[in-house]
Formats: sequence, structure tokens, C-alpha cells
Amino acid sequence: MVIVAHPDDAEYGCAGTMVKWCREGMEVVLVICTDGSKGTSDREVTGPQLADIRRREQIASGEAIGLKKVVFLGYEDSMLQPTLELRRDIAREIRRYKPDVVISPSPVRNLFVTGYLGHPDHLAAGEATLSAVFPAARDYLTFPDLLDEGFEPHKVREVLITEHRDPDMWVDVSDTIELAIAALKEHVSQVGDGVEDDRWMRNWRKQAGEHHGMKYAETFRHYHLH
Ligand SMILES: [Zn+2]
Repeated sequence: MVIVAHPDDAEYGCAGTMVKWCREGMEVVLVICTDGSKGTSDREVTGPQLADIRRREQIASGEAIGLKKVVFLGYEDSMLQPTLELRRDIAREIRRYKPDVVISPSPVRNLFVTGYLGHPDHLAAGEATLSAVFPAARDYLTFPDLLDEGFEPHKVREVLITEHRDPDMWVDVSDTIELAIAALKEHVSQVGDGVEDDRWMRNWRKQAGEHHGMKYAETFRHYHLH
């Protein structure tokens, strides 16, 4: 299960890994916390219209990647907070789909990079996701309403954090990067002709793989939960 704040976050951060896992026969579910309704400078388009466009783009991208399911939690874009409500909504999806592995955004603002400050929604999604994995999805007494809805507790075995300052896991995406980029380009409202994003998608993965014998890699901080 991959949990992100916005439509297109997963494609930027870990689409090569998602394509790889789908090809290997894993069932991958993508959970999007917000509706993406703020991501435009076009003053002719309304928030609800944009949310609808982005939902369709994300479904098309998910089909390209080979996802089992895309879940939209529908929180307002750019206003996401790590509330108990969000934690419960994520815990519900974890209990519903019972993933072995969860990919989460980092809940910590990384100020050791230049040119990008990080998005508050990503931090909120990361914090809510980790809190949903443990303890909310695992303990039956936490959010008893989930049990009432029929969702039994579930233990996630591994967590991979994206955009981590100090990664310790490299996934070789040399064979899947082209499809990952094609999936990102389904987000037409965000990438336009896609030329700049194409370059960006390759550059960071190339740098990440450089010292690990991989043409292109995606990086994570990996946690095994006991
Ligand atoms: Zn985002």
C-alpha cells in the first residue's frame, strides 16, 4: 500500500518501484489523502472541477502502473492535518487491504535540500500514516468503530519512507522508469508537455543509483516492524 497526500505524489516518488512490484505480481493499492483541488494557476478552473480532473488523471495513471485499486480519501488539498480522523481513515484502508508493506511520505521536513521546502500536506500524510500503521491498524481497542464496521486489526510488516534524508534502501528501477514516467504524464493538468518532469524523474533516480551499480534507483528508509 502506497499512501500519499496528492494525486501525482506517488509517481514522482516511487512509481518505478510500484511498476516493478505490480510486474512481480504484488497487489498494490494507492491511497490519496487529498482531492488535489488547489494545484493550478489557471483561474478559469474551479476547485471541484480540478479535483474531478485530477481524480480521472490518477485513475488513468494507476491503470498504466497496474494498480489493484486507487482509494481517494477526499480531504481538502493544502489543508491536510495529521488529525485522528485522517489516522482512522488510513487505518481503515490498512485493515481493509491488509498490506504487508506500506510506503509512506516522511513526516519530517527535510531542510537539507535546496530549491524545495516540502509540502505541509506531505508531512501531515506521513505523520497520519505512521500513526495509522502503529498502533491504530494493529490494536482492536483503538478506533472500536472500525471493528464495528467489520475491519479486523492488521499488522503491517514493513514500512518504507520516501524523501528521507538518510535512505538505506535502493530499488533498481532501470527496467520500469519508462512506464513510471508515462504514468506521471497522465497527470496532464500538472505536467503540461512533461518535458521538464521527464528530466526531473530521470535525474534524481540516476543520481540515486550512481554509487549502487544501478542506472536508475528509487530510495527509501526501510523499517522492519516486530
Ligand atoms: Zn504533493
